[in-house]
Amino acid sequence: MTFKPMKFLPDTLTTAPPTDQWDHFVELDAKAWPRRVRHEMRCIPTICFNCEAACGLLAYVDKATGKIRRFEGNPVHPGSRGRVCAKGPATLNQIEDPDRILYPLKRVGPRGSGEWERIGWEEVLETLGARIRKALEEDRRTEVMYHVGRPGHDGTMERILQCWGIDGYNSHTNVCSSNARVGLTFMVGADRPSPDFAHAKTIMLLSAHLEAGHYFNPHAQRIIEAMANGAKLIVFDPRLSNTAAKADVWLPTWPGSEGTVMLAMARHIMETDRCDKEFLKNYTNWEATLEHLKPGTPPDSDVFFQALLDQYAEYTFERAAEESRVDEAKLREATEHVADCAKALSAHIWRGPATGNLGGWQIARAMEFICVLTGSIGTKGGTHPNSWHKFKPEAFAKPEPQTMWNELLYPQDYPLAFHELSPILPYLVTKENRIDTYFTRAFNPVWTYPDGTAWIELLTDEERMGFHIALTPTWNETARYADFVLPMGLSPERHDIMSQETHAGAWIGFRQPIGRVIAEKEGRDVTFTYEVNPGEVWEEEEFFFELSWRIDPDGKLGLRKHFESPYRPGEKITIDEHYRWIFENSVPGLPEAAAKEDLTPLAYMRKYGAFEVHSDVYEKHLENGFNTPSGKVEIFSPTLHEWGWPEHSMPANFESHVAHAQLEPGQMVLVPTFRLAMLIHSRSANSEWLYEIAHKNPLWMNPIDAERIGVGEGDLVRVATPIGYFVLRPYITEGLAPGIVACSHHLGRWHQTQDKDASRWASAPVDVKIDGDIWTWKRTGELEGGQSDRGNIWWAESGVHQNITHEVHPDPVSGMHCWHQRVFVTAAEPGDAFGDISVDRAKARAGYEKWRAKTRMPPGDLRRPLWIPRHVKPAESAYKLPAQKLK
Ligand code: SF4
Repeated sequence: MTFKPMKFLPDTLTTAPPTDQWDHFVELDAKAWPRRVRHEMRCIPTICFNCEAACGLLAYVDKATGKIRRFEGNPVHPGSRGRVCAKGPATLNQIEDPDRILYPLKRVGPRGSGEWERIGWEEVLETLGARIRKALEEDRRTEVMYHVGRPGHDGTMERILQCWGIDGYNSHTNVCSSNARVGLTFMVGADRPSPDFAHAKTIMLLSAHLEAGHYFNPHAQRIIEAMANGAKLIVFDPRLSNTAAKADVWLPTWPGSEGTVMLAMARHIMETDRCDKEFLKNYTNWEATLEHLKPGTPPDSDVFFQALLDQYAEYTFERAAEESRVDEAKLREATEHVADCAKALSAHIWRGPATGNLGGWQIARAMEFICVLTGSIGTKGGTHPNSWHKFKPEAFAKPEPQTMWNELLYPQDYPLAFHELSPILPYLVTKENRIDTYFTRAFNPVWTYPDGTAWIELLTDEERMGFHIALTPTWNETARYADFVLPMGLSPERHDIMSQETHAGAWIGFRQPIGRVIAEKEGRDVTFTYEVNPGEVWEEEEFFFELSWRIDPDGKLGLRKHFESPYRPGEKITIDEHYRWIFENSVPGLPEAAAKEDLTPLAYMRKYGAFEVHSDVYEKHLENGFNTPSGKVEIFSPTLHEWGWPEHSMPANFESHVAHAQLEPGQMVLVPTFRLAMLIHSRSANSEWLYEIAHKNPLWMNPIDAERIGVGEGDLVRVATPIGYFVLRPYITEGLAPGIVACSHHLGRWHQTQDKDASRWASAPVDVKIDGDIWTWKRTGELEGGQSDRGNIWWAESGVHQNITHEVHPDPVSGMHCWHQRVFVTAAEPGDAFGDISVDRAKARAGYEKWRAKTRMPPGDLRRPLWIPRHVKPAESAYKLPAQKLK
């Protein structure tokens, strides 16, 4: 492999040394200039852990000290191609954070009291091994749960839990993306779009994808390339984001109206006869759709096209303009760009409208419908199922699926939810249906989830929550309520394999612990990664291998065999053997590429950190069809029809809970779903550089609303949600439509005085009081400020926490928490202070009950349609409903 300079740079400039010099090169110390101070260096690749995009990082290591001097992009990574965002280099801050947790901690006072003592890994393993072994021996296989915030790996923990024979994998997906996933799966059988942005003629974004989207840097660079080549950009966003500012057509649509707008686009494309009829005839379930629309009609494609047009007759531009409050002319202009896409429409939806709205999954279906109508599926520049572009290698032994079903994860009354009902977990766990052992991993629901006080109640209730282990690289509001806090590695301190659908190809990236790689290059023996990481920071995979042996030391439970070496029968697998097997057996082309360089596959991955498995992946449907029950794109969804939602079996508008008709007089819509490109949900708090760039989350508000409420910049406003309120400053701007307010969700970290390890530049001290059902937070000071180990913390503000005041809104189909809130915004009241928060637990519980009542039970005796995906999918026998149904 040879190093190629990046496309936009002249050949004489490089962004990294050539790969053949990665083991040794000399650079001059920039800070020492004009003195020529030389450093002997090496580069070791790893994968960024600061969002899901999995960009390639290069650690620049000073050979004299063994210390990492900086992180930059890995130029041979096929997804990120040498580029990174601010969060990649900020990894250096995170590993050097003076406030990070370096050793395992055990609670010594009452749970939540903030009193800890340092313990060793041996005590951790013995305690947890015995506890889980007892649960398995007593067949309490739904009482052990692993709950992940940022996964950072593909399938590792799913396999480990399935080896244990439990049904205990919980994720954050239902506060993140499941509405988009569910909508797309019903239509194309894949849960994410994979747009070929770089070759698109028209790009349509229903998230701020260019600026802060899901695969932010890999997608953003390709969107910019396409625009440089003349592609047109359409952005749906009520807020003038940096992405919207780049758009050819910005559609500041009212939240929840996006589906109606896209169906009006669809109607116009059909009416003007510009849809791809060949694609519709060959690759969609048009016959079933026609039978649904006109029962008994003989299958005739011309009749189908007319029936489809009739179906959407009500979606006029006039209606779309009224619901979205966007000029009809703008909607028509955007539609012309879409209709002219020449089968090269790249569209993406992730957070934003899918995540904010009741029925957001129908917005995702409307977007996919446009891609289908324009024939942009499988084409160069089109929008593809993500399964074409993500590569998932298999580990050496696959366990049998578990035979039980965990109602705490997938309750009966959400039969179409593909993902765990984690937003309502605190309400599902009872004394009778309790959790014995609960791992949270890079997960901070007290702060990131809506209705966080319900989480505090659950985590402090030892009858419902037996033992809580917080696996976390940083201190957080949830770790406070743990029994063990176990320090886990950041991107240069752990192994993982990652793959994401960044473009029309497929790759894997290899995250690796830099200290361990250096030690091995220098011939030092390392048994466990924590021996070479800072303090005793470990990595999950090795920890769980060890823990699995402690659970089943003699193999009698039958799980130990899954953790025995494929190379040394009967002995414990090592982390090297685990990856050696995968790279030798499960990644096509990798052994051959490695052999050309006289390397083993593992050595190849340690050297380059990434491998391109496939390139130019288009038109896979010609061979394999789509992963739906019919094998076709399902415009009409028989699944939705048969499982309780016949009125939504076609793409249609689903009236959002924030539609105009749902608001009381004076009520506004709070859009809390946008993020700042330089922050990471709750983990940016241990990066001083990132907080120096962004540390405020004021309330965006149109001047018309500010005048009505009677506030100006510098005043305080109170935002009252259905269950409480928070107090902050307004940011008055015409970059947001009247009637809507918006607040970024990354800021407002807090700690109580006992939390010694809270980040000093990010987390404000608070006093939390509980008076009956009323909980209040009052700041007892601002940030400590002053000098950090690195420099001057000149900012005192760190934003306001809003999520804890949000009512929980589980969508009755997907289970997704629908983030937008109906709020009243007023000038602050006497006694209000910046950062005040109040929550009424009684109202929070009533809100949960109101939303849960929207669900519909399964029609037959199965819990779920068998074809829909599920994390850690159990055996078919587990899908049978018990005789005693929930209601
Ligand atoms: S987009 Fe930024 S945070 Fe995300 S993986 Fe890439 S460099 Fe890291």
